Amino acid sequence: MRQIRSIKTKLLIRIILSFVLLSVIIQAIVFVSFRSFSINTSEERALSVAEIIRNTITSFMLLGVYDKSDIFLDRIKHAHGLKEIKILRGKSVIDQFGQSNRHDAAPTPLEEEVLKTGNVKSSVKENFFNVEYYIVIPYKASRGAVKCQQCHKAAEDEVLGAVSVVVDITGQRNTGVSILTYMLAVSLFFSIGTLYLIYVFFKPYTELFHRLRFGFEHAAEGDFSNHKVNVNLSDEAGDVARGFNTMTDNLSSTLSCIDNKVSLLIGYQTAKTGNALKDTIKTVDMLVKIYNFKRTIEKDSSKKDVFLRIEQMLLEMGIGNFSVYEVNSDKNTMKNVISRTNTENCSCMEKIIKDTVSWCNEEISTDASQCRAVRTGGIVDSREFSHVCQNFIQSEDNQTGILNYYCIPINIGGHTGDIVQIVSCKDCRESISSFIPYIKAHLKECEPVLEGKTFMELLKEQSLVDQLTGLYNRRFLEEIINNLCSAALRRKTLLGILMIDIDHFKQVNDTYGHDIGDKVLRRTSSVIMASVRESDIVIRYGGEEILVLLVDASEGRAIAIAEKIRSNIENESIETPDGIMKKTVSIGVSEYPKDSDKFWTCVKSADTALYKAKHEGRNRVCKDGT
Ligand code: GH3
Ligand code: MG
Ligand code: MG
Repeated sequence: MRQIRSIKTKLLIRIILSFVLLSVIIQAIVFVSFRSFSINTSEERALSVAEIIRNTITSFMLLGVYDKSDIFLDRIKHAHGLKEIKILRGKSVIDQFGQSNRHDAAPTPLEEEVLKTGNVKSSVKENFFNVEYYIVIPYKASRGAVKCQQCHKAAEDEVLGAVSVVVDITGQRNTGVSILTYMLAVSLFFSIGTLYLIYVFFKPYTELFHRLRFGFEHAAEGDFSNHKVNVNLSDEAGDVARGFNTMTDNLSSTLSCIDNKVSLLIGYQTAKTGNALKDTIKTVDMLVKIYNFKRTIEKDSSKKDVFLRIEQMLLEMGIGNFSVYEVNSDKNTMKNVISRTNTENCSCMEKIIKDTVSWCNEEISTDASQCRAVRTGGIVDSREFSHVCQNFIQSEDNQTGILNYYCIPINIGGHTGDIVQIVSCKDCRESISSFIPYIKAHLKECEPVLEGKTFMELLKEQSLVDQLTGLYNRRFLEEIINNLCSAALRRKTLLGILMIDIDHFKQVNDTYGHDIGDKVLRRTSSVIMASVRESDIVIRYGGEEILVLLVDASEGRAIAIAEKIRSNIENESIETPDGIMKKTVSIGVSEYPKDSDKFWTCVKSADTALYKAKHEGRNRVCKDGT
């Protein structure tokens, strides 16, 4: 992450640098000025002392008391705080009078230069402990007021000697250093004081920036809730803070208003991630998807299509393990119409699915009330109680709570019409849970559509089914017969046709009444149904005449099945108020397209065979031409 240096730190660094720079410049100026002042003062002093010495020594010469000059020199040395005084003789003087009897050290290079050139020379000798000003002035021969040549054999302006003076200016240097130290202390004190005042002044502003940054960071993450910028500033900065608070308040209330309205619209509170912006985008996106879903399923032609849409919707959400059950509340049965299993990215599911055929026990298909969601009409969620439904597969993984199931009923006409069951492992539970509200919202949209389609299918079924026996009626036969014949021709198989008529049925009505007659009719129908395959078609053809179409029947099978039906009915006992009744049937058989390439001719042929069976004494099976 990028390192953020705070405004306070930046400001303090700049102010400290400015103070340090200013202080160094001032100190340097003061130091240079003071040094040059000290040197100038020392130069003037040393020069005047050197000239006094030269003139006094000259006077001593004129008065003839040159030998007393040492006393004078000692006195002047002490009186003026001089470190050293030297009287040097030039070459002509040494030649004339010899070396001085004073014990001065040998001439320094500077002194040599003055004796040679006759120019005043000076220098500053400086080390850590001492500072000395060193000046050498020449002593020149002249014929002025003092006539040097009276005693000296020297040309005019010839350098007779020199006076060398060393002034100790260490004390001045030390005074300068003290002043600088004092100034440094004062400027440091003011710098720290100023910095403190600036720090105190800027503190609320830097805190404001800090809080604003914090608030903006959370706002960018869609979190507007607890990041108000509380400041007591009444200036422009306070306005900024108040503006920020108003903006986040408005955004927060707008987003929650959108969320509440969408929740009301879809009927469920949507899952929250804590990021209001992303949640709102997700909610609105889901709303659009739900709207499109609804528009699509409304145009679907059958319930099957709607179930396929539900499957697609769940797959698009990344849900891989689910089932859809269709419930027949009249018959108290339910069947699995869609079942998906997916082990991708889920090793525990892979293990479970290997030995799992169905998520629920078989019992629910024949007794739908065994399904908890059907029975209660409410959501069954194993996250609340891990074994909430006893009919969910009782595998070891379920027992240990690895598997979760979430069964959502779809209400149709006041009953549970369909169930959507979502299965997940423990690890996938959370990601799937976040989709539950949207799945519920989609399924809610399915309710009126499925209800409409269920009633339509029921209506159609009722118009094709005989209400007394539950068998298909003749209208149904007319609807399907073309397809059935084409399929038989395509597959090169036979369509067995059995025309069944109950023997002496009129007598039942006459003897026991129509109710018992109806009962005999229903019982005979169910025996016939139970005697054929599920793919075979049983039709109530007329009063007590039943037509059976045996699909994909091999040659001769039609007669065998007819015999089986006849025998089963003969053996069936029907209870009447007067005791047990036994009934028989006569059956005429034909085979399409073996007997005729026209279906209705085959029906006629079966009818003729039936007539033959009746004629031959009833309770028998006959085939035309046999
Ligand atoms: P057969 O052995 O020759 O067939 O004698 P049958 O008495 O069965 O004669 P038939 O087939 O002509 O009689 C049909 C009777 O079935 C006439 C009618 O009263 C009765 N029937 C037709 N539909 C129904 C029905 O829905 N309920 C009842 N109870 N009787 C019906
Ligand atoms: Mg009849
Ligand atoms: Mg009959």
